[in-house]
Amino acid sequence: MGQKIQAVKGMNDLLPVEQKDFRLTSAFWQAFEDTVSRWTRRFGYSQIRTPIVEQTGLFVRSIGEETDVVGKEMYTFADSNDTISLSLRPEGTASCLRAIVEHNLLYNSPQKLWYMGPMFRRERPQKGRYRQFHQVGVEALGYDGPDVDAEMIAMCADLWRELGISEHLALEINNLGNKEERAAHRSALVAYLQSHEDKLDEDSRRRMYTNPLRVLDSKNPDLQEICNAAPRLLDYLGEESMAHYTGFKNLLDALGIAYVENPRLVRGLDYYNLTVFEWTTDKLGAQATVCGGGRYNGLIGELGGKDAPAIGFAMGIERLLLLVNEYGRLKTESAPDVYMMQQPEGLAAAMRYAAQLRAAGFSVLQHCGAQSLKNQMKKADASGARFAVIVGESEAAQGEATLKDMQGGRGQQTVPAAALAEQLKQWKSE
Ligand code: ATP
Ligand code: MG
Repeated sequence: MGQKIQAVKGMNDLLPVEQKDFRLTSAFWQAFEDTVSRWTRRFGYSQIRTPIVEQTGLFVRSIGEETDVVGKEMYTFADSNDTISLSLRPEGTASCLRAIVEHNLLYNSPQKLWYMGPMFRRERPQKGRYRQFHQVGVEALGYDGPDVDAEMIAMCADLWRELGISEHLALEINNLGNKEERAAHRSALVAYLQSHEDKLDEDSRRRMYTNPLRVLDSKNPDLQEICNAAPRLLDYLGEESMAHYTGFKNLLDALGIAYVENPRLVRGLDYYNLTVFEWTTDKLGAQATVCGGGRYNGLIGELGGKDAPAIGFAMGIERLLLLVNEYGRLKTESAPDVYMMQQPEGLAAAMRYAAQLRAAGFSVLQHCGAQSLKNQMKKADASGARFAVIVGESEAAQGEATLKDMQGGRGQQTVPAAALAEQLKQWKSE
């Protein structure tokens, strides 16, 4: 026997049954994916699907070389011809914009898009943090806002409502202004941090010059006082940025969506400006951010397209589902309507009846393998099927089938094959 090969660390299998260290089933994910399809349709967004591998340069240019994601978390490798560096995508926005620019989709009209799929980051695996994880993302391209900014939030709120987790998620918002405003603030911030350099930790000292805004994001409790007293970006915003921020907040107020203004909210990726937001929960320990996003005006231009304003967000599906599993609701449909069982003489007829029932809209789990009817009935029970259909030797000879209601107290009933679907429909509706 060969040696067993295991999955890559931090990358989970999604199985039909719950696992010890990754509890969610594939049926649960499927139910979530169905929910997402309906949800995006409710808002008139269209799906975009891009490859999982892109040129490394795409992420370096869009996410930023100094970010954690590009600096140390990417899976990067040379293609066999060695001329071009490739990376597994660590997020979806860059690929989405690359495709938009490549296919000139913004030529005629703005675009409202969504995507869903696996992302890859080499992080330390723990609950709610994996190396292959999954995101649902939404992007509105070619819109100035703040109307569409508020729509992003309304969209999230609508999904939380449907999943029954609204009360466990809190919204934080901020406004990062434009490039010039951030540059002015940055100088003041760096000067301030320099004057406190002796009290900073190693991480912050490194970030002070590369990405000083991120220092304010530090989770180190010893730095909170210094961070609290640091120059606030909000104080450097001009009239236009402030008007955008106020317009956004007024719409949230009008929609009855509660939020907390967090002037230190910066997000981990470089490309954000103006509106940024995060939905956090106190139910998942340190992995508190379930969904985050913001405006990235300028990024389309930087990726070679005609400049256009844009905003988007992404949510981590694993974190969201951990929350839904414990506190929310999501109806899974894993059990079949019908378990089809038979004696050997009835096999061909049973498979024909199964095809008829599927055509009539039933899901049918066909028993495969020779077993006694008694054992097949045990399997039917374990499958959770609502009905069993039995084609024994005599039913096969008569062109009939016997129905059993696995949940109701109806007993069994034998009907002609032609009446099978009708009878089951009637039982189902009673
Ligand atoms: P964090 O601060 O938790 O590392 P982030 O700021 O790096 O999050 P984003 O790049 O904004 O995350 O991605 C959006 C969402 O994707 C996050 O809010 C989170 O829910 C999810 N996410 C990010 N990284 C991971 C990961 N390694 N495993 C599981 N989910 C993740
Ligand atoms: Mg991260």
